[in-house]
Amino acid sequence: MANVFELTELDGKIALLTFDAPGKKVNTFGQPVLAELTEIVTQLEAREDLQGLLLKSGKPGQFIAGADLTELGALMHATPEQLGESMKVGHALFSRISKLPFPTVALIDGNCMGGGTEITLSMDYRIAADTPKTKIGLPEVNVGIIPGWGGTQRLPRLIGLNPALDMICSGNPITGKKAAELGFAFDAVPPEHLIDEGRRLIAYARESDDWRKRRTELALPLGLSEDQLHFSQATAEGYIMGKTKGQYPAPIVAIRAIMKGANLPLDEALKVEQEASLEVVGSEISTNLIAIFFMNTRLARDPGVADTSIVPRDVNRVAVFGSGLMGAGIATSHARVGIRSLMLDVDDDRIADGMKRARKVVEGRIKIGRATYDDLANMLSCLDTSTDKSHVDDCDVVVEAITEREEVKTALYKELAGLMRDDAILASNTSTISITRMGKSAPHPERFVGMHFFFPVDRMQLVEVIRGDDTSDETIATIVALSKRIKKTPIVVGDCPGFLVNRVLLPYMNEALQLLLEGASMDAIDKAALRFGMPMGPIALQDVVGLDTSYYAGMTMVNAYSDRAILTPLLKDLVEAGRMGKKSGSGFRKYTGKKGKPEPDAEFTPFLEKNRVDNREISQEEITQRLFLPMFLESTRVLEENIVREPGDVDMGLILGIGFPAFRGGILRWADSVGADQILKDLEPYTQLGKRFEPTDMLKQLASSGKKIYE
Ligand code: NAD
Repeated sequence: MANVFELTELDGKIALLTFDAPGKKVNTFGQPVLAELTEIVTQLEAREDLQGLLLKSGKPGQFIAGADLTELGALMHATPEQLGESMKVGHALFSRISKLPFPTVALIDGNCMGGGTEITLSMDYRIAADTPKTKIGLPEVNVGIIPGWGGTQRLPRLIGLNPALDMICSGNPITGKKAAELGFAFDAVPPEHLIDEGRRLIAYARESDDWRKRRTELALPLGLSEDQLHFSQATAEGYIMGKTKGQYPAPIVAIRAIMKGANLPLDEALKVEQEASLEVVGSEISTNLIAIFFMNTRLARDPGVADTSIVPRDVNRVAVFGSGLMGAGIATSHARVGIRSLMLDVDDDRIADGMKRARKVVEGRIKIGRATYDDLANMLSCLDTSTDKSHVDDCDVVVEAITEREEVKTALYKELAGLMRDDAILASNTSTISITRMGKSAPHPERFVGMHFFFPVDRMQLVEVIRGDDTSDETIATIVALSKRIKKTPIVVGDCPGFLVNRVLLPYMNEALQLLLEGASMDAIDKAALRFGMPMGPIALQDVVGLDTSYYAGMTMVNAYSDRAILTPLLKDLVEAGRMGKKSGSGFRKYTGKKGKPEPDAEFTPFLEKNRVDNREISQEEITQRLFLPMFLESTRVLEENIVREPGDVDMGLILGIGFPAFRGGILRWADSVGADQILKDLEPYTQLGKRFEPTDMLKQLASSGKKIYE
């Protein structure tokens, strides 16, 4: 027995059921919890003497987080019968709760998600706390499933079809106040009043008999016309297909279940939901998305170092050298969360440009309703600027984000030796230069580290924290903690050319160029990547990143991995002709039309013709394999060299750093789903192209042992 519920009785014969999983931060519904609740419901069904039931959580600010995702993830290996059975348990139990012989009220204080929301939907009333922490949602689609314990049928009956479609398909939660506005909650009140308000509501429900009327009403069909249903379905499906390109089936399955059940009596509608649920529960996509949830949770808890006794240093003030594309973004990220930041550059004009960029970050968010003018004022009040390096003397961390030239960076480090506080940490945002080597020029190599942000800083969640040979644990732990404070996801990686993400990305980017020179069209290459699920094709990405950046980064990789890295002279030709990509108006495509949209550019043709090596038809299959197999092989080398601590670091690094499709679970999970044997076969036709397609030792071992990267 789970022993997570306590059933007490308040004056006036009102039962109070408190859910409080001992030793856990949140309450979740796993099989033992459902079994205990079933016993309690059996007792309650026989208590006709009770006036009502209140359900609350014993954890202030944490109601119920939903189903136990470990159990859900394990369903990948279940038979269809087992899947059906596991779905039925919650369904049957919540239906019994909806028929208890007295009025029932859920008192929601804090996070109320998935199964947590569904149990409240099976009750007669909900009262929510009016605190910012109270978030009520059905986020099942985020892990590739649909609300499967009544949510798709009870929510539309309670708040109406369109608001329910919105909540279920977006997975976005609503606040307690919004829940009251939508009619989901009877009221939103301060948390300390929840029990009193619950008792009052039970008294009112009994006096007015409102609870019985509601039960009858909410069990009826929604009674919408066929036209209304068709219109809502077409609009919702069109919107979702536009957003997901059909690569995430759960929201579509949810829409269809909602529509099919809308005009049925509730009991029949619930059966529709059960059937629909089986289409997605235990699927590969759902399993991948659940794995990502756990990898994210692990990273959120990861202190970055094995020794858990290491305490991160306090960081109250941060300096950022460079007010360019990256520096302005980094300084703003700190100032936005209230960390006092100083942005430095060589002259006032550049500082002024940096400040424009800083304001733009928050102004852009104000435009879409995600920030207020107060947020802008608060950010600006935390952001100072200077051209005088001596002002870094009171900073705990100094982030260097200046020009990507080693001698320029190390000259600055030497100057800083006499200016920085002796115990301060110096972090470099370099994309390619060795942290161990540059650390030798830093005032204190043990307090020198890589802190690699991605562009655009305000939108990209990843920070690679790069450990040089001399970097101390305390430095790593401090930068990991600081990255989390500015709401980023840090991944600690070892020092190697390209670190993790660029090292794995560049083989893919360069293979795209190779395919172009062999005869594939730009559109065909980009299309293959988009079909695979990438947010942008590799040719389009080259233009966005900048061909100069791509070229110089490529040179670093060629020098470091000369046996397999390729760099076509095409890039050099384009850079020398001033075609730097989007920022210069042309690269592979041109960007001179409206809103800088990419267009084909006839002036690119001579560059292609000069460098062309072939002109053959190349299938989409070959393009896809040649883009992603080298990316996978480089990932296995990263694992072999212990550049990361876990395979999950590679997958999360790519998902957060380059938008690798989450539904595939990352490049390593994708490879697991293809199978090592099959990958060996897929590589065969390409091994003549060189070492970049040669199976690595890790791949060969996986194939011979029949093992997977994630066992
Ligand atoms: P940028 O050219 O936009 O900005 C660099 C700024 O540094 C300029 O304003 C320059 O005046 C200033 N600067 C140069 N020397 C200085 C000094 N001694 N003191 C103070 N300021 C100085 O470059 P960026 O794109 O912001 O790149 C900065 C760093 O971030 C580089 O190391 C780059 O590799 C890295 N990075 C860039 C990206 C990207 O996509 N642009 C992504 C990740 C990391």
